[in-house]
Amino acid sequence: MKYIFVTGGVVSSLGKGLAAAALGTLLERRGLKVLMQKFDPYLNVDPGTMSPFQHGEVYVLDDGAETDLDLGHYERFTSGRLSQLNNLTSGQVYENVIKKERKGEYLGATVQVIPHVTDEIKQRIYDVTGQTDADIIITEIGGTTGDIEGLPFLEALRQFKDEVGHENVAFMHATLIPYIKAAEELKTKPTQQSVAKLREIGIAPDVIVCRAEHPIDNEIKRKLSMFCNIKPEAVVPFVDIQGTIYEAPLKLHDQKLDSIICERLGLATNEPELIEWRNMVDRIVNPTHTVKIGVVGKYIDLQDAYKSIYESLTHAGAANDAKVDIIRIDSGDIEAEGTEKYLKDVSAILIPGGFGDRGIEGKITAAKWARENNIPYFGICLGMQIATIEFARHACGLEHAHSTEFDPTTPHPVICLLEEQKEVTNMGASMRLGTWETKLTENSRAAELYGDTTINERHRHRYEFNQNYRSQLEDAGLHLVGTSPDGTLGELVEIPGHPFFIAVQFHPEFQSKPTAAHPLFRGFVAAALENRY
Ligand code: GLN
Repeated sequence: MKYIFVTGGVVSSLGKGLAAAALGTLLERRGLKVLMQKFDPYLNVDPGTMSPFQHGEVYVLDDGAETDLDLGHYERFTSGRLSQLNNLTSGQVYENVIKKERKGEYLGATVQVIPHVTDEIKQRIYDVTGQTDADIIITEIGGTTGDIEGLPFLEALRQFKDEVGHENVAFMHATLIPYIKAAEELKTKPTQQSVAKLREIGIAPDVIVCRAEHPIDNEIKRKLSMFCNIKPEAVVPFVDIQGTIYEAPLKLHDQKLDSIICERLGLATNEPELIEWRNMVDRIVNPTHTVKIGVVGKYIDLQDAYKSIYESLTHAGAANDAKVDIIRIDSGDIEAEGTEKYLKDVSAILIPGGFGDRGIEGKITAAKWARENNIPYFGICLGMQIATIEFARHACGLEHAHSTEFDPTTPHPVICLLEEQKEVTNMGASMRLGTWETKLTENSRAAELYGDTTINERHRHRYEFNQNYRSQLEDAGLHLVGTSPDGTLGELVEIPGHPFFIAVQFHPEFQSKPTAAHPLFRGFVAAALENRY
C-alpha cells in the first residue's frame, strides 16, 4: 500500500481538498485504485451537529456517516464510494481513547497524547488499509499546519511513515503564495515558514502545491526549492481557475503533479486517460445555452452550504449543453418583499434541505409560485416537505397545514415526525441516515427519468410525509409515486401534468458526478431549458 498525506499551510480555504481530490482523479485515471479520506482535528465526533455557518454542507455517505464536505469532492472526483471509516475527527479519536481507558484497556498506564492518541490515529490508517483493495490511500489533514489541534495527527503521521517505510509515504503540502499588490510581487515567506513548521515535527514535504492568483515563475520555484529543501519541479503551481473546479486535475497534470508523485512512490503507470474528463470540462466551459435556476434557501450567502446541490446543477447543465446560472435567493427576502421580485426572472426553482423554521413561509410561497405558474420545481428533503405543505394548504384547502417540526399544534400535520424518531433524545447521528431503497410507481415521471422503478438514494431527515393525508393530496393532484419498499415511508411526490414538479425526501445531490449527472437533476435542468423566456 502507498500513502499520500495532504497537509495545508498558511491559510484555510485554499483548495487543499480540491487539490487532493484532483490528485485522486489523476491517479485513478492512471489505472490505480485510489481511496480518499479526511482527518479533521476538531473535537466534534462528526460534523452532523454543526451549523452550516460553521462548516458548510454536511455530506452523507451510503452507510449514513455525516461527514465533511471534502468527502463530496472525493466522491465526485473519483469513483470510490466512501464509508464512515474515511472521515476521522479528534472527537472520535478521544471518544475511543476514553472508552478504552474506562474499560481498563491501558492496564494502569497514564493515558497521554503520545502514544495513546497518536496510536489511535495510526490504528485507523491500519484499519482502513486492512479493509480496502486500493493501491493507494490519499488522506487529507484538515486545518492548517501550526494549529494546536492538528499536532497529534502530524505526529502520528511522522511515526507512521517510519513504521511503513519512507518509500511508501509521500507528503503533499498545499499552501498560499500571496500577491502583494503594492510591490507587485508574489511572496514565498509564509510557505517557507509553514514548511519549517512541518519539518520541526519531522515531516518533510515531497511536493508543495502553491495556490496563487498569479503565475508562479522559475525564480519563485527556485527560492521555494532552496528554502523548503525540495526539487524545483516539485513546486507545483496551482493558479486560480476561471472556468470550473473540474479543471483542477488538468491544470495539476500540466504541472506534472501525478508523475512527480508516482515517481516518488515508485509507481510505474501509464499517463492518465483524461479524454472523458477533458470532454466534460469542455462541456461545462463552452455550453451552447444558459439557463437561470433559482435556489431558494436560508444559507444563501454561504458558498459551501449547498455545495453538492450547486455541483449537481453544474453536472446537469453540462449534460444538457447548458450553463446553469444559479440565482441564490434568500427565502427571508421573499417573505419580506414578495415572490415576484425574486422569482420572475428564473426559469426553474429548487428548494434544498434545511432545518429550523426561519424562512419557511418564504419557501412555501416560492413552491406555490412554481406550482401555479408552471415553473419547473425540484424539492429536496425539506423542499419536498415544503411542496407538500403548500399543496395541502392551497390545493386541498387544509388551512394551517404544516410540519410538526415548525408548528407542533398544527391542525393538519401533513409532515410529521418519523415513528422511529419519537424516542430519540441524542442529536448526534440520530436522524434517518444513509442509503435506503425506494420503489417508484411505473409510468411516473420519476421512474421515466431514472429508467427504473427501484432506486437507492441517501437520506438525512427526522420528519416524513404523513400518509393519513395521502388520498386527499392525491385526489387534488399531488401523487406519492415513491415509497420505501414496504410502502410506509413517503419518498417522492410529483404533480402529473405540470412541466416538472418533483420533490424527494432523499438527497440525490450526493450521487451526481461531473461525468454522470444525476437523472433527476438532468431532467430538471432540461425542463428549465424548455421553460426559458
Ligand atoms: N428538517 C427536515 C427533517 O428533519 C428536513 C431535513 C433535510 O432537509 N435534510 O425531516
